Amino acid sequence: MPNPVIAIVGRPNVGKSTIFNRLAGERISIVEDIPGVTRDRIYAEGEWLGRTFDIIDTGGIDLKDEPFMSQIKLQAQVAMEEADIIIFITSVREGVTEGDENVARLLYQSGKPVILAVNKADNPEMRADIFEFYSLGLGDPYPISGSHGLGLGDLLDAVVAELPPEEHFTDDEDVINFCLIGRPNVGKSSLVNAILGEERVIVSDIAGTTRDAIDTTFTDSEGVKFRMIDTAGIRKKGKVTESTEKFSVMRAIRAIDRSDVVLMILNAEEGIREQDKRVAGYAHEAGKGIVIIVNKWDKLEKDNHTMNKFETDIRDEFQYLSYAPILYVSALTKQRLVQIPDKIKEVSKSQNQRISSSLLNDVLMDAIARNPTPTDKGRRLKIYYITQVGVKPPTFVLFVNDPELLHFSYERFIENQIRNTFNFEGTPFKVIARQKK
Ligand code: GDP
Ligand code: GDP
Repeated sequence: MPNPVIAIVGRPNVGKSTIFNRLAGERISIVEDIPGVTRDRIYAEGEWLGRTFDIIDTGGIDLKDEPFMSQIKLQAQVAMEEADIIIFITSVREGVTEGDENVARLLYQSGKPVILAVNKADNPEMRADIFEFYSLGLGDPYPISGSHGLGLGDLLDAVVAELPPEEHFTDDEDVINFCLIGRPNVGKSSLVNAILGEERVIVSDIAGTTRDAIDTTFTDSEGVKFRMIDTAGIRKKGKVTESTEKFSVMRAIRAIDRSDVVLMILNAEEGIREQDKRVAGYAHEAGKGIVIIVNKWDKLEKDNHTMNKFETDIRDEFQYLSYAPILYVSALTKQRLVQIPDKIKEVSKSQNQRISSSLLNDVLMDAIARNPTPTDKGRRLKIYYITQVGVKPPTFVLFVNDPELLHFSYERFIENQIRNTFNFEGTPFKVIARQKK
């Protein structure tokens, strides 16, 4: 099940990002490592009383040069489109402002549960000043101090009390979770409809935490089960969320986190943009299977070289994704659409593949014989042994004399030898060097 989503809204400077950082758990650091997402962390996973949830700091959503009021209006709209619960943050130091009243009116109309937090209540006298916030008509105000970490427990108790009941699904091991990622207009919803239209057996629409079904599960003719992540999010197309780049990147990241295989959708007419690279980079780092899909193939004037040229461009732009298969499709004419579920299955197989140590070591010894290990400052790298320690993504441990001596290029060479021998199409690898004691 997807995590429920909690959005933080409020005027600038009331302390949104301070609170966000307090509530955010570990996941945030993974997001932080990704270039482009780094400076603007707006999404993190949090946990309280055993419930996990995703938190969005709407204050981190850039709206360029919009005037103040339309900024927070848009932020409130993002929260209303995406969140299950909204934490509305105000400040006791400024009291109730006109801006707060405007936001409150919007939130009130949304019909979503709103928890009202009054921040900067750093001492007991200030906690007495929160009563004027009843005038916002959003129920009990919760006094908190983000900088001192006060009152957050009570606030979270109130949030968790509003969470939809937890549904205990035993996570079905046999389902392949996948998602479609791509900029607006590349054809995601057309592809979703086409793929689902082709598959005869729709098992269920799992009710998500919001009103609409979030994921769609289906079974193909061979009985393999798939779960398409965030189907509703793709079909529904929130006006605000689609057009706000930072937000769409965040939504993509949430979907990727929940997926085994990511379908990276490109538009044949437009090629690759920065945002595509960022999101693909995240999927790669997260160890997800990846299939690159070039949609709207029908729109191109083609000759014998068109496909090769595309392939060259894609390989150039996404150098780290050399393992990802590319499909050229059209949601409109349905050209090659049947290959999509097949590719997902193949990639899922590669992700879960285990190779015996004896086979791996044969490949390793062969590789070393052909391309001797490098030396660094007079010391030669020695590799004693390789073994696979995990799947999804396939993870290998190399036992060496000194991990410092294993440079990226030689690691890459060994990785390629493994790839050339076994079929690991579509999945990244993790290679860990360990010193042999
Ligand atoms: P945002 O614009 O709503 O994200 O607000 P920030 O989290 O950036 O905080 C704005 C300012 O208020 C910063 O200088 C914070 O250090 C300060 N601040 C945040 N929480 C508190 C608090 O509980 N008490 C006090 N006194 N200052 C706070
Ligand atoms: P999304 O924003 O990524 O979900 O994209 P849509 O599925 O809404 O498609 C955007 C536009 O591109 C719509 O007008 C579609 O009809 C059109 N479109 C989608 N796929 C194709 C395709 O394969 N070929 C052509 N010619 N048009 C397409």
